[in-house]
Amino acid sequence: MWPVLIILALIAALAFVHFHWRGKFLRASAAATAETERLRELNAQREAQALQIKTQQQALFDSMIEGLLLLDENRRIQLANRAFTELFDITADLRGRTLLEVLRQHELTGLLETVEEKQQVLGYELKLGALSERWIQINAAAIIDGDRAHRGTLLVFHDLTRLKQLERTREEFVANVSHELRTPLSLIKGYVETLLDGARDNPEVATKFLQTIQRNAERLQFLIEDLLTISELESGRLKMNLQSVPLRPSVDKVFEDFKTQARARRVTLTNEIPEVAAQADAERLQQVLGNLVGNAVKYGRADGQVKVSARLTEGAIEVCVADDGPGIPPDSLERVFERFYRIDKARSREQGGTGLGLSIVKHIVQSHGGKVWARSEMGKGAAFYFTVPRS
Ligand code: ADP
Repeated sequence: MWPVLIILALIAALAFVHFHWRGKFLRASAAATAETERLRELNAQREAQALQIKTQQQALFDSMIEGLLLLDENRRIQLANRAFTELFDITADLRGRTLLEVLRQHELTGLLETVEEKQQVLGYELKLGALSERWIQINAAAIIDGDRAHRGTLLVFHDLTRLKQLERTREEFVANVSHELRTPLSLIKGYVETLLDGARDNPEVATKFLQTIQRNAERLQFLIEDLLTISELESGRLKMNLQSVPLRPSVDKVFEDFKTQARARRVTLTNEIPEVAAQADAERLQQVLGNLVGNAVKYGRADGQVKVSARLTEGAIEVCVADDGPGIPPDSLERVFERFYRIDKARSREQGGTGLGLSIVKHIVQSHGGKVWARSEMGKGAAFYFTVPRS
């Protein structure tokens, strides 16, 4: 009997131990599964966050106007934003490539070396292209970690082309203005000196000299008036007083102003404008018409015809001032609107021209939201067109 009881007790003990450990094992493995699940969730969350940060970063970089390039410590591209690829017209993937492979500008290698060596922000102006010149300002900064080890370089590219062009235009303008002022001034000075040296004793000669002085002083006056108008128009200070302006009477008024000059050249002035009103600044519109009619009388044919007409287009009025003079060569049709551009310099100056009239016209028309252009067939006259909003 005892051995059976002992065996039963042993079996019971073993069964207890078995179930005890099995229970423990099952509880432990359930806990381990829950832990793995939690880790997976955490990982997924971290990846989603990293992706979100990367997307936000890319969106931020892509919204920048400046081109941005991030190089690693081996000078290989890690990141390039949209502005950079647009600036250099690049479509290929840039990651892993070097700056030299991408831009082919050897001087940039020197810039990178200096940045790495000096570990500071450096500015550099890069000139690209021979025909269509472009200027790029590059600011470079070394990325340094806590141990002062070089980890990469950040480059910011800024397109300076427009700024440089403006600078050049300004310089040319100042040079042109000085030149235009110098000529009449030195003539005035010369004639005054001759008069003082004795020419004043001969009344006939003195009158001739004084007339020349008067003509040149007037030239200076016109030039200064036109320069002031240009500066006013360009400053943006100018306030347009837009109102409904009947066109026909405006043209009549301009014809009245040019009556004497037209009569002197026996030019017939014809107003063919229909009853229509423009939405414009009356004084400025008068200036546009005055400059165009004045030119047509000046540069058109003696005994010729100057006609002002208009037609209605969608929401606008297209005005045409036409003459039957010698016309304008095809390569000058656009250039006549440039400041100080003249087809015949001597003739323009002789007639008191400043070379600024048509650029003022263009400015005023554009500030009314209109367009201006010229058409001409050599020997058959010139026609100037401009559009102005309809009232
Ligand atoms: P300017 O003061 O010399 O008249 P504008 O800017 O008014 O300056 O005109 C520029 C040039 O365009 C003139 O010098 C002239 O050579 C040319 N031009 C303008 N209007 C006419 C026209 N109707 N016919 C021929 N040439 C013209």
